[in-house]
Amino acid sequence: MKLQKPKGTQDIFGKNAETLAQINALAAATFENYNFKQIETPTFENYELFSRSAGETSDIVTKEMYDFKDKGGRHLALRPEGTAPVVRAYLENKFYAPEVQKPVKFWYSGPMYRYERPQSGRLREFHQIGVEVFGAENPAVDAETIIMAADLFSTLGLSTLKIHLNSIGDSASRAAYRKALVDYLAPFESELSEDSQRRLIENPLRILDSKEKQDKIILENAPSVLDYLNERSKAHFDSVCEILDAAEIDYVIDSSMVRGLDYYTNTVFEIMSVIKGQELTVCGGGRYDKLVEYFDGPATPAFGFGMGLERLLMVLEMQDIDLTDEIGLHAYVAVLGDKANLEASKLVSALRVQGYSVDRDYLGRKLAAQYKSADAYHADLIITLGDDEVGNQCAKVKNSASREEREYSFDALYADFATIYEDLVMNHEDD
Ligand code: ATP
Ligand code: MG
Repeated sequence: MKLQKPKGTQDIFGKNAETLAQINALAAATFENYNFKQIETPTFENYELFSRSAGETSDIVTKEMYDFKDKGGRHLALRPEGTAPVVRAYLENKFYAPEVQKPVKFWYSGPMYRYERPQSGRLREFHQIGVEVFGAENPAVDAETIIMAADLFSTLGLSTLKIHLNSIGDSASRAAYRKALVDYLAPFESELSEDSQRRLIENPLRILDSKEKQDKIILENAPSVLDYLNERSKAHFDSVCEILDAAEIDYVIDSSMVRGLDYYTNTVFEIMSVIKGQELTVCGGGRYDKLVEYFDGPATPAFGFGMGLERLLMVLEMQDIDLTDEIGLHAYVAVLGDKANLEASKLVSALRVQGYSVDRDYLGRKLAAQYKSADAYHADLIITLGDDEVGNQCAKVKNSASREEREYSFDALYADFATIYEDLVMNHEDD
C-alpha cells in the first residue's frame, strides 16, 4: 500500500490549522451578530439531492460528483456543496412550521467534495463556510447577507476584495433573456467550446460561466441580462443596490456573472481575488426562491452564500495577514530522575487543572535538550524537578525571558500557581 494522501486532498496542520480555527471562530462571532444559528448536516446525502438541485447538466453533477453505491445498494454522494443539504434539513425538520421564527437563518462550516482536476485553488476535498436564510423575499435580506460576508472579510483584515453583483431575474425575465442569448450565440455555434455547444441547447445561461477563452471572446458582446429584467426583478435589484450603497459597500455590477448552479433567481454575487495570476472566487452566493418548492416544500424564498476556506487562506497569505498569535505554554517542567518523573506528572496535572497550559519532558533527556524544548514551545516559565527537589518538596521556577529565578514550595505550586505566575511573569511584562 502506498502511504500517500489521495490526489486533491490535504493534511491541515501547523499554521494553516490555527488560521482555519481562527477563521471559524471569527465567522461564528460575526454570524452570531446577525442572529444566525449553526447547523451541521451529514457529509454524504442521497445522490438525487444534488443531481436534482444543482441541475443534471451542471458541472457539479456531470463531472465533479463523488458518488458511490453503499453496501445496501443506496446511491449516495459526498456533498459537493452545502445549500442542498441545508434545504433538505429545513424540510425534513419542518423549519417551515409557523411556530419557527422567520426568517430561519443558518450557518455551517465543513468539508465539501468535488472530483476536479487538482490545481492551485482547486481541491477534491476542500472546506466551506456558508449561510442560508429561509422565508423572506425582502431585498434587505440579500443586501444584509452580502454585507455580512463583507463584514467577515474586513474582520479578517481583507477589505480590498471586490464584490461582483448581478441579477439573473425571476423565471419570466430569464426566459426572455435566454431567447436573446441563444439568438446572439447561434451564429457563433461552431466557434464555441464543445461544452458550450452542448450548453447552447441544454442550458445556454451557463455559457456565461464558461472559463474557456474562445467562449469568453464571443461573450464580450453578448446581450446583458440586466436589460431583460421585468419590473419586479428590476425593483428588487435596485433595492439591493440601494441598501448596499447606504452601507457604503463597494461593489461592481457584473452582468456577465451567473452562478454555476441552476437554482439561483434574481440576486447573485461573488467576491473575487486574483490568486497567483488567476482570478478566483473566494465567496459566491445568491437568491434561490424556487429550490425549497422544487423539493416539494412550501413556497419559500431563500438566500445564501458559500466561501472556500482554502482560497481564503491563499488570499490571507498573499496579503501577509497573520491571524495566529505565537501562543506559547505558560510553563514547561524539566525532569531529571525517576522520583521526579512521578512528581512531574502530578505537578503538570495540578497546573493544567488550574487552567495553565503546561508540558514536560517524557524522554529522560539531558537538561540542555529539555530547555531547548521549553524554548521551542515559547514557555513563559521553566520549572526544574530533580530528586533533590522532590526530597525538599520545593522547586526553582525561572522566567525564561528575564532569567529571573525563584524557589517555591510544592504546596505553593500545587495550591496557587496564579500568584507564582503573576510574580514572575505578569509583574515583569514591561521589563
Ligand atoms: P469555480 O467557478 O471557481 O469553480 P464554483 O462556482 O464551482 O467556483 P461554488 O460552487 O460557488 O464554486 O463554491 C463556493 C466556493 O467554494 C467557491 O467560491 C470557492 O471559494 C470554493 N470552491 C469551489 N470549488 C472548490 C475546489 N474544488 N477547491 C477549493 N475551493 C473550491
Ligand atoms: Mg466549480
